[in-house]
Amino acid sequence: MDESPVDALVIGAGPAGLTAALYLTRFKRRVRVVHDGTARALWVPRTRNVPGFPDGIVGKKLIERMTDHALRYGAEIVFGRVAALERATGHYRATLEDGAAIAARGVILATGVDTNLARLDEGDHMTAVRDGVLRYCPICDGFEHRDERIAVLGSDLHGAAEAMFLRQFSRHVTLIPKWRVALSDAQREELAQSDVIVLERHVERLVAHSRDIAVQMRGEPVARRFDILYPAFGSRPRNELAAALGLLADDADAGCMPFHAFSDGLLPGLYAAGDVVAGLDQISVAMGQGAMAATRLHNWLREAEGHLMADQD
Ligand SMILES: Cc1cc2nc3c(=O)[nH]c(=O)nc-3n(C[C@H](O)[C@H](O)[C@H](O)COP(=O)(O)OP(=O)(O)OC[C@H]3O[C@@H](n4cnc5c(N)ncnc54)[C@H](O)[C@@H]3O)c2cc1C
Repeated sequence: MDESPVDALVIGAGPAGLTAALYLTRFKRRVRVVHDGTARALWVPRTRNVPGFPDGIVGKKLIERMTDHALRYGAEIVFGRVAALERATGHYRATLEDGAAIAARGVILATGVDTNLARLDEGDHMTAVRDGVLRYCPICDGFEHRDERIAVLGSDLHGAAEAMFLRQFSRHVTLIPKWRVALSDAQREELAQSDVIVLERHVERLVAHSRDIAVQMRGEPVARRFDILYPAFGSRPRNELAAALGLLADDADAGCMPFHAFSDGLLPGLYAAGDVVAGLDQISVAMGQGAMAATRLHNWLREAEGHLMADQD
């Protein structure tokens, strides 16, 4: 265990955690970032909706630049998985998987979410994501697929809503059941009115090619080809550390931290930011919440240091 606690431990080195680290180091705080190298931002083939990058930027490149930016101001960034987080007297104590311990006066959880992935029968999953034939975020990249043949895999309301969202970009949208279509007559009617095709049979095989994706439906002689497939399977927040502190959000947020976690905090000196917080899973949102959480934590530390005029904004 370190002798003296760092001012802030940031768990996660995606857009939320790295923004928080940048702000905190520029507030002259001693900051340690711990991450296990699994940021979803690293998957992004090329994002085109992050302001300031009109030609887009590859997710890995963005993270490299953000890492460099935080390092320049003195952030300490270490690789490792935080296995446990607990409150001790006057600080938090994080234990890494390898047994190392970190004491910190404040903590920002920027742990993101795990995407529920589609299982391909042929073709490599990450290659398909890189090639842009398998996508997970219509808000991010629906625009890139204007007038293309789009398939949405997922037969519940979530899948239907995603298909309707994508319909504004293309007239060729097909909703494909994972198991069976579970929609009301009214929902089916709305899809039909919008010319979204709903397939009723089971998917037997998914095969990713470099330029398109083949979907073999049971009982059909040939596979259907789509330019792009969006699995609508949702995601799971990486909330284990918060859960161990008794902080699991209510069901309405599907296990995410409540929306005010980046501004009001979860416990004294404990904040959350980014995808792990309920709301819109986007890089710009993660950056904004990281900035807010860092500023709130800094001001909370100032108050603890006896500053009477520690502005909370
Ligand atoms: C294929 C794809 C394309 C996307 N395209 C776009 C796009 O174009 N535009 C856009 O705005 N958004 C896009 N997104 C969403 C975007 O990637 C996320 O909104 C963003 O990465 C969220 O940032 P974050 O910092 O909250 O989480 P992440 O980037 O997921 O980072 C989470 C961090 O937490 C760490 N971590 C988690 N648990 C632990 C632990 N216990 N110990 C140590 N470290 C831990 C991970 O290692 C990682 O560093 C896309 C997502 C996907 C999957």
